[in-house]
Amino acid sequence: MVDPTETVVSADPAVIAGLDHWRTLPIKQQPSWPDPAAVASASAELASMPPLVFAGEVDQLRERLARAARGDAFLLQGGDCAETFAGATADQIRNRVKTILQMAVVLTYGASMPVIKMGRMAGQFAKPRSSDTETRGEVTLPAYRGDIVNGYDFTPQSREADPARLVKGYHTSASTLNLIRAFTQGGFADLRMVHSWNKGFAENPANQRYEGLAKEIDRAIKFMEAAGADFDELKRVEFYSSHEGLLMDYERPMTRIDSRTGLPYTTSAHFLWIGERTRDLDGAHVDFFRRIRNPIGIKLGPSTTPETMERLIDVLDPDREPGRITFITRMGAGRIRDALPPLLEAIQRFDATPLWVSDPMHGNGLTTPTGYKTRRFDDVVDEVKGFFEAHRDAGTHPGGIHVELTGDDVTECLGGSEMIDEQTLATRYESLCDPRLNHMQSLELSFLVAEELSRAQRA
Ligand code: PEP
Ligand code: MN
Repeated sequence: MVDPTETVVSADPAVIAGLDHWRTLPIKQQPSWPDPAAVASASAELASMPPLVFAGEVDQLRERLARAARGDAFLLQGGDCAETFAGATADQIRNRVKTILQMAVVLTYGASMPVIKMGRMAGQFAKPRSSDTETRGEVTLPAYRGDIVNGYDFTPQSREADPARLVKGYHTSASTLNLIRAFTQGGFADLRMVHSWNKGFAENPANQRYEGLAKEIDRAIKFMEAAGADFDELKRVEFYSSHEGLLMDYERPMTRIDSRTGLPYTTSAHFLWIGERTRDLDGAHVDFFRRIRNPIGIKLGPSTTPETMERLIDVLDPDREPGRITFITRMGAGRIRDALPPLLEAIQRFDATPLWVSDPMHGNGLTTPTGYKTRRFDDVVDEVKGFFEAHRDAGTHPGGIHVELTGDDVTECLGGSEMIDEQTLATRYESLCDPRLNHMQSLELSFLVAEELSRAQRA
């Protein structure tokens, strides 16, 4: 990230050496590449590519997240469980951005606060798996680890880890981000237009329950117009990219020294999170991500103890920097009300203000008798409600939601106003990994969360 107009600060050699310390530590969830020389050459190619995001944007996001951690903003993070190369089409990207923008308008009204918009997009290609292999009938092959590693087709050739996919992952992220930047800067994000799409949702008889809130938003927009609000200012929105920081042969070469500060930034996305399976305190991922400047998310499952949480803060945020860490809790609807309160109580004895975000997806998986991985919309909603309740009781700020969603009309999660049932799942189940909320379910969730937020505001 060298810009000749800026002072070039070179990094401390110890900082650069530290970026490879993870190589000496236990590491989980990495592919076994058959050809190490090909990985080295793909890594070298990635290291020579331009950054996908810029240090200044990353710093700006950290400030935005600090606001959310203080209770003055709300984070909406959403997108596919696993993006695919084939799915990086203009239509699918547009529909996802559109859905996130629509949700954000509803949430902004409910929260009376700025909503930080962030996609699980433009790089969410690597997946942790519960098993290294997959068996179908008599055949056992390596598990699918995401398009940046291997193919989904169940053949030995497709399932072999292919380092050429690292480079393709970069290019697909670049074209996705390019389109996102165009959509969010070029007039598509105009508040009045996004609002008109939402009217369509509320006018659908299935969504009558939300008519009241939709009318309130409509009046608010009319009021703004009448009062002479500068709608030109409302044509552009900030939109940040994020993905799980999992695949080290991708994230390490995408990490660069910022010429203004001499500090390392991972330029594959603005925000990276460490998954529930790879957040070991002594493991490679925590060591690597503690050394970079990007804001970092950490998934916390229901077995997280206050001690683990405190140690994660000490390691990843020793300076207690506002906006630095986000805890993304994914406890399950049945566990959230027991598992979250002890953490919220402990945090008040600890001198840290992380941002708290609810992932109401990953603790609520189930498999139907017909073999579909799914989630019940009601469980998703119940976990979010439990998240808000726990924060209300503790006096902490419920600062955001992290959702697996798509802008398309898929049938992957059960329920919602369209009442998708087990029979319907088969009609349009497209996810290669976890089930996503479809367009309608996503909007419905945003209305329900907006109700929670306005209740929290009034309390
Ligand atoms: C995910 O976000 O897709 C994921 C694998 O989550 P977790 O680490 O919480 O299981
Ligand atoms: Mn997932």
